[in-house]
Amino acid sequence: MNIDLTRRGFLRLAGAGVAATSLGALGFGEAEAAELAHVRDFKLTATTEARNTCPYCSVACGVILYSRVDEQTGKKRIFHIEGDADHPTNRGTLCPKGSALKDFVNAPTRLTEPRVRRPGAAEFEPISWDEALDKIARAVKDDRDANFMSLNETGVPVNRWTTMGFLAASATTNETAWLTYKVVRSMGIVGFDNQARV
Ligand code: SF4
Repeated sequence: MNIDLTRRGFLRLAGAGVAATSLGALGFGEAEAAELAHVRDFKLTATTEARNTCPYCSVACGVILYSRVDEQTGKKRIFHIEGDADHPTNRGTLCPKGSALKDFVNAPTRLTEPRVRRPGAAEFEPISWDEALDKIARAVKDDRDANFMSLNETGVPVNRWTTMGFLAASATTNETAWLTYKVVRSMGIVGFDNQARV
């Protein structure tokens, strides 16, 4: 950088330097220590990084989740989320919703387990993933057995199952989306959609 310094400017600058040095000699150097005391540790020190996808919309921006063991609970906790600069979709940027992901992840009201409301019950109760998946598989099989249509009323093969719908998430990889499409269509499901229209 070029600085255009006149002789008068140089003398003024030198004077200021002498004054600052004199203040330090008079004890004002403690201000520097006080300033240092306010410098925070780098917040990403000793963290584990994990890459993921923002769950909100079909743009499917890449995010990096930073976690470490919480001293109070002894459990791992995500304490910082930022856009993934290497992700081809967002290249490190996030919209306001994505930027607030940390509060969504750590929200005390967030559902973290499957729940069921039994026949006649007023409240939902938590169940294991095994039980939840068994119940879903049973319901899917029973409905398909009862309603799958091989031929339409004129005898034309249609192989469709119109009493079941499938709502998928678009924030997936191409491979997952391809697999989802194959599974859903191979069962004859017609009603199939998500935000990105896979
Ligand atoms: S950060 Fe915003 S634009 Fe990107 S996926 Fe999330 S909600 Fe959509």
